[in-house]
Amino acid sequence: MADIPLFKVAMSPRATADVGEVLASGFIGQGPRNDAFEGALAKILGTPNVVTVSSATAGLHLALHMAASAAADGTRFDLARRALSGEGGEILTSPLTCTATNWPIVTQGLDLRWIDVDPGSLNISLDDLARQIGPRTRAIVLVHWAGYPVDLIALSDLLDQAEAAHGVRPVVIEDCAHAWGTTFGGRRLGLHGNVAVYSFQAIKHLTCGDGGAVVFPDAEAAERARRLRWYGMDRRTPGTVRWKQDVSEAGFKFHMNDIASAIGMANLDLAECNVKIHRDNAAYYDQALQSIDGLQLLERKEGHDSAAWVYSMRVKRRDDFIARLGIGGIEASPVHMRNDVHSCVAAYRRPLPGVDEADASMVSIPVGWWVDDAIRKHVVEVIRQGW
Ligand SMILES: *Cc1c(COP(=O)(O)O)cnc(C)c1O
Repeated sequence: MADIPLFKVAMSPRATADVGEVLASGFIGQGPRNDAFEGALAKILGTPNVVTVSSATAGLHLALHMAASAAADGTRFDLARRALSGEGGEILTSPLTCTATNWPIVTQGLDLRWIDVDPGSLNISLDDLARQIGPRTRAIVLVHWAGYPVDLIALSDLLDQAEAAHGVRPVVIEDCAHAWGTTFGGRRLGLHGNVAVYSFQAIKHLTCGDGGAVVFPDAEAAERARRLRWYGMDRRTPGTVRWKQDVSEAGFKFHMNDIASAIGMANLDLAECNVKIHRDNAAYYDQALQSIDGLQLLERKEGHDSAAWVYSMRVKRRDDFIARLGIGGIEASPVHMRNDVHSCVAAYRRPLPGVDEADASMVSIPVGWWVDDAIRKHVVEVIRQGW
């Protein structure tokens, strides 16, 4: 059997012609294609408060920036103001993720505190979060690992308690880069009162080449983000003369252009279809990989409907496991390296037994739209032969 990759770019054949039209149109910046794509995302997600950006990393940077600095117009999305006024605020976050989740905290000079993970789900441990949350907590950043959602209701209860105890409700920023198509409690991520950041990078469910989207809980914050992604200027109100605009709050250049928007638009339907295949393959593995010596499946709970970007589990002797699958033509990998071991964040190290356990044993196998019935049977057969 030919090599089965862990990731594959899902590109609709339509994209080539659509991008060609943009290239020939004489307008390739942020324009009508971006408006259309943002509108389509809003329709799928079921909220108008969707703001496209150039990447999820840019989106996370923007969301943190907004949480850490008071808006000139006093919008409610300014809860971390005290972090910057010398009172030593902290961002609580998981180290078991892509560096893209955490480096925007570090590069903005904000202090972070690592939260342990639950090895049973590879998501942030709400027990450790409850222990670490305190008067200095300004924001919580979490990732929905492999698309499997964090319990956002339990998290909201925790925030209620923190707010009652400390008088500040921390902002929650959900890194949904693995989770296009995931629902929690039957609703897409981004609709649970937090800020949610999606990635449309090359190998995510939905790709623009590079791109991302930030979903805000209110229209005010979304409007602020639409200005901040383009230097702090309003590009949408008809009749606005751009060069004459006063900028009351300086912003970034984090917008998505029409080339990327056309790619995303062409891939939207494909991504929705592909998520179903990812899910179906994951359900197959959930059944077929039960009770195998040295293999532990991850948590599955009612109402947590994962988009299964990859299929993760925990195995004994992981290097042997990966080598054995390699012989069978199957790519397997831990996907991300724990972030807390990097020297640039050495100052924040603390004991994280859940991360130790997860980091030593986690592995992901191919589950995506390119995995057909013959392939998934082959994967199960190779694993069942042992390693
Ligand atoms: C891919 C990824 C990102 C970064 O997304 P970009 O759009 O490439 O910036 C962030 N977080 C996680 C967990 C990712 O997998």
